[in-house]
Amino acid sequence: MSSKTDSPAVRILPEDVANKIAAGEVVERPASVVKELLENALDAGATRIAVRVVAAGRRLIEVTDNGHGMSEQNALLAIERHATSKIRSATDLEGVRTMGFRGEALASIASVSRFVLTTRRAKDDAGTRIRIDGGVLRDVEQIGTSPGTKVSVNRLYFNTPVRAKFLKGITTELGHCIDAVQRHALAREGVGFQFFHNDKILLDIPEHASLRERVALIWGLSYVKDMVEVNGERAGFRIRGIVGTPALTRSQRSHQFFFMNERPVINRSLQYGLDDGFRGLITIGRHPVGVILMETHPRLVDVNIHPAKREIRFRDERAARDAVRDVVRASLAAISTPPQAVPAPPPDPTLWEETPTRGHEPAPAAQPPASVQAAPPLTPAAAPIPPASTTVSARPAAPQPPAPVTNGTSPAAYTPPAAPPAPARPAQTEMSGVLPPRPVAEDDDDGAPGAVYTAIDEIDEAPLQLFDTYLLVPGGDRLLIIDQHALHERLNYDSLVQELQDRGYASQQLVVPMVLEVAPSQVKVVESNLKLFAQVGIEIEPFGGNTFQVTAICHLYDEKLVRDAVYRILDELSQGDLFDKERLQSDILRLATRACKASVRGGDRLTPEERRALVDGFRRLRPPYTCPHGRPIITEITLRQVEKSFRRIQ
Ligand code: ADP
Ligand code: MG
Repeated sequence: MSSKTDSPAVRILPEDVANKIAAGEVVERPASVVKELLENALDAGATRIAVRVVAAGRRLIEVTDNGHGMSEQNALLAIERHATSKIRSATDLEGVRTMGFRGEALASIASVSRFVLTTRRAKDDAGTRIRIDGGVLRDVEQIGTSPGTKVSVNRLYFNTPVRAKFLKGITTELGHCIDAVQRHALAREGVGFQFFHNDKILLDIPEHASLRERVALIWGLSYVKDMVEVNGERAGFRIRGIVGTPALTRSQRSHQFFFMNERPVINRSLQYGLDDGFRGLITIGRHPVGVILMETHPRLVDVNIHPAKREIRFRDERAARDAVRDVVRASLAAISTPPQAVPAPPPDPTLWEETPTRGHEPAPAAQPPASVQAAPPLTPAAAPIPPASTTVSARPAAPQPPAPVTNGTSPAAYTPPAAPPAPARPAQTEMSGVLPPRPVAEDDDDGAPGAVYTAIDEIDEAPLQLFDTYLLVPGGDRLLIIDQHALHERLNYDSLVQELQDRGYASQQLVVPMVLEVAPSQVKVVESNLKLFAQVGIEIEPFGGNTFQVTAICHLYDEKLVRDAVYRILDELSQGDLFDKERLQSDILRLATRACKASVRGGDRLTPEERRALVDGFRRLRPPYTCPHGRPIITEITLRQVEKSFRRIQ
């Protein structure tokens, strides 16, 4: 610092310095360049946009569009700071509909790269090429080129080495670049997008692809099968989009995308609105997935609060939130009334000509046909009860209308458990000898009681079944309430794990290898996880381009479920979720075996034998008392609570 008396003179910064400072805000990383150039192309009315990056954008970022192009004069203006064709005055800001409007991006980008702008309007005979090196204009030429604009950004940050140092590895930066393209590609029906990395095409979205098809191309077909369209109008907002059924949730908001007047945006109210729409339908701690496209009068939104224009503010935040909630809710209600109505029309088959099987699979994952559900459990060894009823299908753990129960006929379907529960007494006494007789420990696992439950009273009658869903079991000074589905699922799951431990992953060669087509952005992910999959009994081999084939699977897996399981796990892997062998094992068992499907469900009326077998199974359980998906199996009401309610005690 200089001395106090010597107050620094105020100066206007030279243009190139100002540009570099602005670049700090606008050009955080290669993906920011991709985003800005894409937005310019969209603002120019392009219907086809190709993005090419080399070395994750450090060497080259090139965006080519077929938009309206620029005259030479405009092109020269466009690279000046605060030069924009999109607004003229501050009042225009209020009604801005274009992606850009600050007129900073090109100048900023050109100040930190070797920059080439090539552009031509359809009506001009020749185009213009402008070269700028680190903010210094090198030359302007007339050249022959096709209508539209191409911006090439070479050697980003070549003159600001400090910024270059802050860049992350190739995979991370590339991931951000793909993300930037995907985000726009999701919402812009009518615009085709291609993304190349080092000449390899990673994303190819045709112009005419619908929202559903776009989601399928980006997140994978297995994903989109469990999604439904939303549509509606509330409080001045037109809302449409596509959301996952409650069967398809995430632990994070990684798969929630909101667009306001076609701009990808982040806004709390919209996120909460989506959550609100699913309230009561999905487990706490999980988030719905979806793409929500909103349109409203630009005056109701302020987009000018964030340098990258990602965050927005509404005139009335509450109204926006409620609008999303109401539209989502209404659309979900429309599908959940008739159980089979999850309408997942197969996407346009012409988009997937080479792999017709994936495009035509009729049954969404959550809705296996009744015949599949009626199949006997995969490993009867330890599954106490085969499915008692075929009338209830896999569905969200949601407030369901009491399902019809065809109990009269179910005893025929019931065969006593092959192995354990029948002579369960010895096992039980053994256990209670080992474990303390009383709940002992507390556990904070999402509300699931963490105690060790061994104090289940010996009673002669079968446990009572409540609402065709819960089993009531007295246990010392408390009443235990068991969720029959969660419990059965857990028992089936445990027996699969046991079998794996005993027999290992005995993989069986598939007669016909299963071809997997993955999203282009996932090819790398598959390649780098082949070993991990093999370790859990799924052998995958490259099969050219973005296809792979599964050649062998563990004997416990259901061939029909493996494909979906792999797709789902890939989705999570490509979102950056980390999988180790344990996690992969438990996920695959959960997804690729029938542990869940073969289990009794909420709403199934159970015979006394079935109830007894379940409770016997429960006695053998170790904490945590949760199903493989993490839902609690048991809750309790203590005598103390009851006595308090009746004011017998304080
Ligand atoms: P902004 O997008 O905020 O206006 P930019 O610096 O990104 O600022 O772009 C400056 C101007 O250059 C734009 O207003 C537009 O007129 C013109 N421009 C930029 N990219 C393109 C393009 N791909 N096609 C046509 N015109 C473009
Ligand atoms: Mg712009």
